[in-house]
Amino acid sequence: MSSHSTLRNLALGAAALSLPVALVATGADAHNHPRRASASPLIERAAAGPVDQHGGARRITRDQTQLIADAVKGSAAKNVILVIGDGMGDSEITVARNYLKGAGGFFPGIDALPLTGQLTHYSVERETGLPDYTPDSAATGTAWATGTKTYDNAVSVDRNGTPQQTVLQLAKKGGRATGNVSTSEIQDATPAVQVSHVSLRRCYGPVATTASCPENAKENGGLGSISEQLLDTRPDLTFGGGSATFTEVAKAGQWAGQTLADQARARGFQYLTDKAGLASLKRADQDKPVLGLFSPGNMPVRFAPLVATRGGADLPAATCQPEPTSAQVPSLREMTGKAIELLSKSRTGKKNGFFLQVESASIDKKDHAADLCGQIGETQQLDEAVTKALEFARADKNTLVIVTADHAHTSQIVDGATPGLDARVRTADGAEMVVAYGTSATAGGMQHTGSQVRVAGYGPGAANVVGLIDQTDLFFTMRDSMAAWTRANR
Ligand code: MG
Ligand code: ZN
Repeated sequence: MSSHSTLRNLALGAAALSLPVALVATGADAHNHPRRASASPLIERAAAGPVDQHGGARRITRDQTQLIADAVKGSAAKNVILVIGDGMGDSEITVARNYLKGAGGFFPGIDALPLTGQLTHYSVERETGLPDYTPDSAATGTAWATGTKTYDNAVSVDRNGTPQQTVLQLAKKGGRATGNVSTSEIQDATPAVQVSHVSLRRCYGPVATTASCPENAKENGGLGSISEQLLDTRPDLTFGGGSATFTEVAKAGQWAGQTLADQARARGFQYLTDKAGLASLKRADQDKPVLGLFSPGNMPVRFAPLVATRGGADLPAATCQPEPTSAQVPSLREMTGKAIELLSKSRTGKKNGFFLQVESASIDKKDHAADLCGQIGETQQLDEAVTKALEFARADKNTLVIVTADHAHTSQIVDGATPGLDARVRTADGAEMVVAYGTSATAGGMQHTGSQVRVAGYGPGAANVVGLIDQTDLFFTMRDSMAAWTRANR
């Protein structure tokens, strides 16, 4: 992948860099210049090149006033697609862009959204309500899913344990089709926040819930584990990993004594666990909802590990290699494309619109592991999912797309060897980049960080992501945009 683009960029320079951009920006209307396609502008921001010439590194080559004016499209959205890069701070985006596209390069998904801002993503302490400056994915997901800041490890409950209605649940109540897609276990915090309410994120199934969240356990009159609540919330479509928990047996309720997989089938879900099943799916709706779980745990990632080490910056520059097991599962692009296709074509989705959350989960997991290539590949997966969302939104014209991260993370681009762990890679520019992981003495323990993260939007309602916002603002923006469309189209 990278060696191919490296060669191409070296051989053709700026012309090669700008080619894919032009194709994406114009989509099917290859004859219309994107800047004139006033209905739905995307930006193109690849450097004109060569970057070492006067003006060559410029990303803006003409006045943007009309483009930005055209990007503000009212605030009523029939459909909302929220794309989350877990742990995808500015640093992770830049690392991946440098490696995959070059310093002056451009992601056709992440970088094409015309309206951008930054969001604050602190959580709050359970006991005191004071800010916690380095939140986890449960608290941050709860923030955009419900509009309520909560403590780390909480899944869509406030700091007193009270369940907060999620934007997916609200969308469903309002008559929309709903979907939830992730590359992690579907019970992991980011997907879990849309479909469940538990006091601790680890309460995946009945076993952990009895042990760690007894107040949520079915046998104690609670809403049940994350997996059981997923079945109750019943989104039209759920894709991810996490089939292992579905072998657990319900302890109470109508399906007591049965596995959660059997319960899903008994309740009408199309339960599938392989790539071929995904390809053959024809529908996803309330009569035949889909639960596609493509691996027992988190899904395999795209690139084989390149783990930073002490002195790694002094090793020869490496190139990321494919991870063979990733071919056994669908890519995030495939899952996102299928989700959009099924939701938009379902009777409910066509008439009333849909809400879809998509997550590239393992940017975070590989950053924790100081795995540079792992992290880069999952950022690429995120970009491809965004490209799918923008393709649909551009044609549809009534779809709000929001792309952001839940929190910032460890990796930093540095000049050379650090006292901690680092790694050196050769980028698409043919240049070398050193990335440091300095928040833990060992790979595996790298920490989340507290810097604000980027948020970008496209379509109706996207003006509300511009400037400095808080993560909780996303809930209100999504809710209000969907409500406005519903009012206008009742
Ligand atoms: Mg996550
Ligand atoms: Zn994390």
